[in-house]
Amino acid sequence: VPEMIKSIAQAPEKEYYLPGHRTCAGCGPALAYRLIAKASGKNTIFIGPTGCMYVANTSYACGPWAVPWTHAQITNGGAVASGIAEAFKMMIKKGKIQDEYPNIICMAGDGGSIDIGLQAASAMMYRGHDVLFVMYDNESYANTGIQVSPMTPYGATTMFTPSGPEVPEAKKFFPKDPMALFCGGGHPEVKYGATASVAYPVDLMNKVRKGLAYEGPAFLHVQCPCPKGWTFPADKTVELGKLAVETGMWFIYEMENGVKTFNIKPKQLKPVEEYVQTQGRFSHLKPEHIAKLQAWINARAQFIGMEVPLPPVR
Ligand code: SF4
Ligand code: MG
Repeated sequence: VPEMIKSIAQAPEKEYYLPGHRTCAGCGPALAYRLIAKASGKNTIFIGPTGCMYVANTSYACGPWAVPWTHAQITNGGAVASGIAEAFKMMIKKGKIQDEYPNIICMAGDGGSIDIGLQAASAMMYRGHDVLFVMYDNESYANTGIQVSPMTPYGATTMFTPSGPEVPEAKKFFPKDPMALFCGGGHPEVKYGATASVAYPVDLMNKVRKGLAYEGPAFLHVQCPCPKGWTFPADKTVELGKLAVETGMWFIYEMENGVKTFNIKPKQLKPVEEYVQTQGRFSHLKPEHIAKLQAWINARAQFIGMEVPLPPVR
């Protein structure tokens, strides 16, 4: 059982993701990286498939990590992590190294996890490699200039989903459900999966430790507000992360050996309109689109089994 962190004041002081990188001010994924690296500590190896957390972190051959890190293609984070994990297992078994088995963490964006990177992520989790697969979700392909991804919410503009006369709501599809896919949809080796948010850092850090403590694959889906892609002021990242949870645009729960626990549960959900009006990517939405989004949230709360009073669909 890993040591759990009780409060932010008791979090380890030592940083393994250091200042000096080139992510945007208020970058949610950078905050996630800092907290995850803090929780996992010194004996950690990161695999970084292409995404903002590769591109913006590695300008001019410099990187902000104080632990080993390697790049992978956006397609193959899961495969590279599998190889590193098996190489360590084998070298330890054969007595070629005296090291303790490291924390192996694949830090993939939404594209590198659930879209372009899906086959390698799925295969890694299906085969049962001892890796924590983190999906830092900023809800777009951000490093190439904010293109739509399967995690972009219904109604959001991106470079590829502008609002226009044909499709006034901008993106017309609802997002994929990665937790259902990896922790319920045919990946039996995954004994631990969770969602988390940079707005709830203690919950996030403890889930990193829990996932790493399981032998075999673990999955962590972290919502990370992106000021550039979502169009909001850089000092509102944490506020927006909280509002996402309070409106049901994000649910925080874990699946441990098939048992679901809601770790952060609002007393009632606020209307999604409160969330939508904080971000430029939703500024074109009409009442009927907001109603459609609210209906989706309400259905989702019921689908995942969170019993909470829901706002009316107007
Ligand atoms: Fe971070 Fe978004 Fe900027 Fe990328 S585009 S560095 S995810 S804030
Ligand atoms: Mg992304």
